[in-house]
Amino acid sequence: MTADLSSLANRLVKGRELSIEEYAFFIENRTPELAQELAWQAVEVRQGIYGKDVYVRGLIEISNICKNDCLYCGIRASNKNCQRYRLTPEEIRECAAEGYRLGFRTFVLQGGEDAYYTDALLCALIRELKEKYPDCAITLSLGERSYESYKALKEAGADRYLLRHETADKAHYESLHPVEMSFENRMECLKSLRELGYQVGCGFMVGSPGQTARTLAKDLKFIEEFKPDMCGIGPFVPHADTVFAKEPAGTVELTCFLLSIIRLLHPPVLLPATTALGTIHPEGREMGILSGANVVMPNLSPVSVRKKYALYDNKICTGEESAQCKDCLSARMRSIGYEIVTDRGDVKKDGRHGRV
Ligand code: SAH
Repeated sequence: MTADLSSLANRLVKGRELSIEEYAFFIENRTPELAQELAWQAVEVRQGIYGKDVYVRGLIEISNICKNDCLYCGIRASNKNCQRYRLTPEEIRECAAEGYRLGFRTFVLQGGEDAYYTDALLCALIRELKEKYPDCAITLSLGERSYESYKALKEAGADRYLLRHETADKAHYESLHPVEMSFENRMECLKSLRELGYQVGCGFMVGSPGQTARTLAKDLKFIEEFKPDMCGIGPFVPHADTVFAKEPAGTVELTCFLLSIIRLLHPPVLLPATTALGTIHPEGREMGILSGANVVMPNLSPVSVRKKYALYDNKICTGEESAQCKDCLSARMRSIGYEIVTDRGDVKKDGRHGRV
């Protein structure tokens, strides 16, 4: 490793911040040796806060109906080949009941921006779930809504909200989204969610079309400053019915490198080894954990809809029952010396950060 890379690595580990130029330099000049060093450091830092525990989140994909037309996404509004579905509150309750039985203590309700899920419907559902499972956290991942809507959902009992910022570079954001969507609104939503007291998750795809070392460096700077409670990063995977069908997928190598950096620059962050990582490599999720991640998100959706929630091609775990997904992941984690725990898995302070 060159002296430059070594000294940057040291500063990252000790100081937990670098400039945008330095992050970009790091990404452009990374070597397998540097990646290994950062992974070791990230695992050690994570170990100090979370031990060998891996948190599980039961992902319930409530709808693939979406008013948005994000250029990379398989369920974009203009995709006529997508068979649309939405789950009723009753079906969502059944998924949660099965999840609870399997040991899940966080339910993630994720979906497209589907107007069927009004504040009234969601608030009633959240209240019911919280009443029935007071020891569980409810995470929402339903895209951009108004401040009033986020407020009502929070008051109904939602604990966390995942809204990937997608990219911290405005021009890059605009190249991935239609004109109706705005970078400013996405960022404004994240601020509102924080202000309302949610545990907030941001994140981005690795290898999205047009991404550069510099846009990634801006993502890292944003994470360093925003200090999200959760951060979802996973490889971009092309979907055949989108304009990006022919683009290459992101790599495991770069995703794992970035996972390590994110752990080091914000140690308490809840960091999933995503399903997309498992999709591009058979041991992708294990590699993610060994690079500093500490969360996995197995699927709890009814098997009948899993293939339809196709954000990208070849998604794994679309034919299995929820119990199989959980068992498979438990075995995978155990094989690398980690343990899936039955726990809400809230963010922990590491003693050095005021806010986490
Ligand atoms: N509608 C919600 C949930 C989006 S789906 C929202 O707007 O937040 C969750 C994430 O999947 C997205 O934020 C995006 O980063 C990711 N995603 C979408 N298409 C993808 C693709 N082709 N490859 C990899 N990840 C993708």
